[in-house]
Amino acid sequence: NQDRLASIRHHGTVSKDGVGVTLAANMGTVADLPRVEAGGAEAIGLLRTEFMYLDAHHLPSEDEQFTVYRRILTTMAPRPVVIRTLDVGGDKPLPYRAAQDEANPFMGSRAIRQSLAHQQVFRSQLRALIRASAYGKLRIMFPMITTLDELRQAKAIYADERAKLTTARVAMGKIDVGMMVEVPAAALLADRFAAEVDFMSIGTNDLIGYTLAADRTNQDVAYLYQPYHPAILRLVDRVISAAHAAGIPIAMCGEMAGDPIAVPLLLGMGLDEFSMAPNAILKTRELISQLDAHELTSLAETAVNSASTSQEVVTMVQAAVPDVL
Ligand code: PEP
Ligand code: MG
Repeated sequence: NQDRLASIRHHGTVSKDGVGVTLAANMGTVADLPRVEAGGAEAIGLLRTEFMYLDAHHLPSEDEQFTVYRRILTTMAPRPVVIRTLDVGGDKPLPYRAAQDEANPFMGSRAIRQSLAHQQVFRSQLRALIRASAYGKLRIMFPMITTLDELRQAKAIYADERAKLTTARVAMGKIDVGMMVEVPAAALLADRFAAEVDFMSIGTNDLIGYTLAADRTNQDVAYLYQPYHPAILRLVDRVISAAHAAGIPIAMCGEMAGDPIAVPLLLGMGLDEFSMAPNAILKTRELISQLDAHELTSLAETAVNSASTSQEVVTMVQAAVPDVL
């Protein structure tokens, strides 16, 4: 089995009926790069930059960040790399940034909210990213976008830094700019957001938590943290359709993207990129090669439109593809 999986390490990912998708890796630091290569990743779908900030005892400088981003982009080139701007707060407070005591940190000053509140730090990260873009195929992604106003502010700051570096004749590549869809408001308004970004990526880890009102770190409500809840499927399906209607690619970078029950549904909905832990990629590539994407369209439609519970969804998927699960 290991040998069989190893033989598809350098292959693309194609369903039984010829639909191609991208299997990408989630990663946190350069130490993950060997696992990404061994895993057979076709791209990086999510680089969580917060580890670089959390592991250090100070804010990483622009040059420190540039060196790390350049290394990852160079290693992966010509494959694309999605680098997410700082996503701290929630369960990941920055140890050296004074924070308010928050009763609800997950609903508080997190991610893009902190970046917009601490613009010098945000600008330094964006400059490091823009400089590193000369070395590979960079996609910048903003986390936790909730309103169009936030997205427009983040894009304006990016454009401002880009213009300054252009004036200074700094080398840079073409950069796609996108956002995570991990807040229900953004999922519901995905058609409006899709008109203003180059790509979107669904962050189901947070989207499930916020939609089911169940903190992903709280064991007492773990039974409510349901990836196959029909409400989640409806949101995900809606985001995929909105992205395609706007002509932009749609990815998923939450845990759900590598979940064997979810993969047939997501393939049926038309998801373009599945980003997951590196060690899940080869198994997922093999699974997708055994699935008929066109046949799964109707499974996805039934699950989205007619299922009432998570258990019903699981039963539907198992009945539809019994030989591969
Ligand atoms: C997500 O929320 O699904 C996600 C990928 O981001 P993180 O797990 O880093 O919050
Ligand atoms: Mg998230």
